[in-house]
Amino acid sequence: MSYDKNNIFARMVRGEIPCITVHEDAETLAFMDIMPQAQGHTLVIPKIAGESLLDSPPASVAAVIRTTQRVARAVKTAFSCPGLIVTQFNGALAGQTVFHLHFHIIPVYAETSLKMHARGKADPAELEDQARRIRAALAGG
Ligand code: AMP
Repeated sequence: MSYDKNNIFARMVRGEIPCITVHEDAETLAFMDIMPQAQGHTLVIPKIAGESLLDSPPASVAAVIRTTQRVARAVKTAFSCPGLIVTQFNGALAGQTVFHLHFHIIPVYAETSLKMHARGKADPAELEDQARRIRAALAGG
């Protein structure tokens, strides 16, 4: 499959559609997943086009991994989650639904099991509140 430059994440990078951003720099963007599997579920993407880990330029992969580590630490601080899953899917058969490289940061809580992948939109106000907590952790506050 060739890269579709109008996929939803590419459109977010260009600012054509909104997202609830927690971090942005020259190479990467991190935002709340609108169909979260757990409270604090965040996505991290490179700005450069690439469908998956397999076809993305190494510099882009390096940048997105750096941001993923940084945001994952902030998510852990913000939600005090005892566990944290970082996942990344390559190809529809593997579960990929948006064909622009992205990493999932999914908190794991002792008392709550994960929701299904990409099902059921969360309350935007709750996502805004979660994003505010992650931004504060990123800022060290
Ligand atoms: P994947 O199956 O790994 O490709 O995951 C794509 C993720 O993107 C899913 O977890 C979706 O819930 C999420 N998603 C889809 N559309 C949006 C959107 N507009 N804003 C934020 N997250 C989205």
